[in-house]
Amino acid sequence: MIVRAKFALPIRTAPLENGAVAVDDAGLISAVGPFAEVAAAHPGVPVVDLGDQVLLPGLINAHCHLDYTTLRDAINPQKSFTRWITRINALKRQMTDDDYLAAIAHGFRELQQWGTTTVLNLEAFPELLPRLPAPPIRTWWFLELIDIRSRAATEDLLAGALSFFEKHEGWLGGFGLNPHAPYTASPNLYQICAECASHFGMPLTTHIAESADEEAMFHRGEGEMYEFFRELGRPMDDCGQHSSFYTAVTRGMIGPGWLLAHANELSDEDFELIAATPGDWHVVHCPGSHAFFSHKPFAWQRLERAGVTISLGTDSLASNGSLDLFTEMQLARKANPQLSCETLLKTITINPAKALRQAGKLGELTPGAHADLIALPFDGNLNEIYDAIVENRSPVPWMMLNGEVL
Ligand SMILES: [Zn+2]
Repeated sequence: MIVRAKFALPIRTAPLENGAVAVDDAGLISAVGPFAEVAAAHPGVPVVDLGDQVLLPGLINAHCHLDYTTLRDAINPQKSFTRWITRINALKRQMTDDDYLAAIAHGFRELQQWGTTTVLNLEAFPELLPRLPAPPIRTWWFLELIDIRSRAATEDLLAGALSFFEKHEGWLGGFGLNPHAPYTASPNLYQICAECASHFGMPLTTHIAESADEEAMFHRGEGEMYEFFRELGRPMDDCGQHSSFYTAVTRGMIGPGWLLAHANELSDEDFELIAATPGDWHVVHCPGSHAFFSHKPFAWQRLERAGVTISLGTDSLASNGSLDLFTEMQLARKANPQLSCETLLKTITINPAKALRQAGKLGELTPGAHADLIALPFDGNLNEIYDAIVENRSPVPWMMLNGEVL
């Protein structure tokens, strides 16, 4: 099949006027170029003509918790991150497995509506894994692991999940591990996850340096989060010295290659550590959730200067109003007016693809990539394309996943 549109936006290269993408029977892109060239090279192949639209790769949400999709507007902004944790934990205790499965299904529908073809979903309930239907979009399921109460149970759970992962290799997407955060997961758990991930070739993600509370707990050994976890019986000997980021990196818990969610509270010392540690650093910024919690400004330019690749995510609807990545780009643009729309579009396409080690496979129109495509109505000029996409406020009317039109 050939998909033709007024414009095609490969992302890595300039927009094409009267562009086309050829898709083979395996669901892969076989050619990208001006329609006349693609059509001439594929005689007799049926053409889907999208008319006045811009064709681009499907979007990638690099941080999402579908479990909490039904908690939209359930929690008002709290005085502190720790109070929000207390509130969500209380709400979670009232939810059943069926509630979570319904939340996940609902979340997928919303993601799809807004052009997301790949999501990195952090799954907090491993007991749901056997009941999950095959996901409707490409999904990386990151098993959320916490060992603040019991270490042995976590190891059993991980073993069970790994055997589940092996049986479901046919699902679109893959599996990864998510030791939750340095305040809920031990250095030992981080290291077990890193070993498993390296053995099975899985990506890793964690929450890091998210809130002022986390910073107060690790750096100064004080505050609401410090007291909350001390009372739960967490060993607090890693607190009162350095930031959570510095502590986690220097204890061998995290490093280059990880998808590090948030990184809102990085100090000069943390930036020096990034500069001194070569490798591909990845940070996932969640603009809507960032605004909900009133975190301090995200250090976009400083991270970029440090060579960190930035991707965007929505986080969950317990701290955000939608699962729409266009809104996330608009919020990021508002907070960082210096950012070009071209840069913003990379944060939901090629940047997260690189973090997932799927460069060339996802997030771009290029031969050999999966044919995950979306199209948006657009009848403007070539130089208005990036701006029009970033400022899109309507659901995405056309989507292709793995070569199939949805
Ligand atoms: Zn999160």
